[in-house]
Amino acid sequence: MDWRRDLTSPASVWREKELLQGKVVDVGVAILQTSGCRHYHEGGCSMCGYNVDGAGDVKPEQLEKQVEHALGQFKDVPFIKIYTSGSFLDECEVPSGPRDKLLSACADRGTRLLFETRPEFVTDQTLDHVRAIHSDIEIALGLESANDNVLSWSINKGFAVKDYDEAARKLKDKGIDVRTYVLLKPPFLTEREAVEDAERTIAHASKASSCISLNPVNVQKGTLVERLWRTWAYRPPWLWSVLEVLRSTKGIDSKIVCDPSGGGKERGAHNCGKCDGVVLDSVKAFSLSQDHSRLGAPDCECRGIWESVMELEGFVMGGTPDLQRFFRRQRA
Ligand SMILES: [Zn+2]
Repeated sequence: MDWRRDLTSPASVWREKELLQGKVVDVGVAILQTSGCRHYHEGGCSMCGYNVDGAGDVKPEQLEKQVEHALGQFKDVPFIKIYTSGSFLDECEVPSGPRDKLLSACADRGTRLLFETRPEFVTDQTLDHVRAIHSDIEIALGLESANDNVLSWSINKGFAVKDYDEAARKLKDKGIDVRTYVLLKPPFLTEREAVEDAERTIAHASKASSCISLNPVNVQKGTLVERLWRTWAYRPPWLWSVLEVLRSTKGIDSKIVCDPSGGGKERGAHNCGKCDGVVLDSVKAFSLSQDHSRLGAPDCECRGIWESVMELEGFVMGGTPDLQRFFRRQRA
């Protein structure tokens, strides 16, 4: 880590839109520089590179400054999301000083607050403490997959589906909204397996979640996924797969959102390059309206390739190789 790095302001802040109680509102988003995810120190998840450049020695006073900075930027928004790349409820990562400061400020302003945590930090004691300060909160849990084999062998998530279930139930019992992250295309799954796994996971998560965020894998630096990608052994999901999964959510009560990081790029969910923009626009329009008729794109020749991949990958090919990228490079 660079010792000259400024640890008194967030890693990044931006604004985005989200549908909240039937209205599209401005949301302030900040990524805090914390000491990092506890699980990262135990090997971490195969697709997560957020802690590669972590701020191991950040002090509580510096985190408090980061919180103040974010609050200063977002005076006028009804909804703030604070990402820590780990667990907001882990006291080793976010000590009570900065944590409670953020909660009180949001309570004073009447701002809804979203933060993320791993299920092991969801305890009655912590939840009661948090709710006593601010009640309009939404807690995001990264379930990723409702299949324990995928969690263990593909993601290295470090918990089981039942751990998520228990945390989600605890949150629901206390009247706290649950947002569940569902991963699209963890490594070692074929495109079709990935689509089916995401669909099953959404169905599972919908029982406890007010919102489900579909997160297509993007290839982050320093991860196992990146090593596979570099040797042509991994391709991020097709945007056609993103559409397929989102279309399957018709009839599910939870709000479904999707904002593919790196969408349309080589390291993110992508199609052929020609149709990516239209598909991404339709995904955005759907997330903000929950109207399934907004999902779609004019037919593109790459759809046929995706259909072949869905049919043949795993049958004629062992894993989920990125042959197109390989051959494109050979030609270049
Ligand atoms: Zn295309």
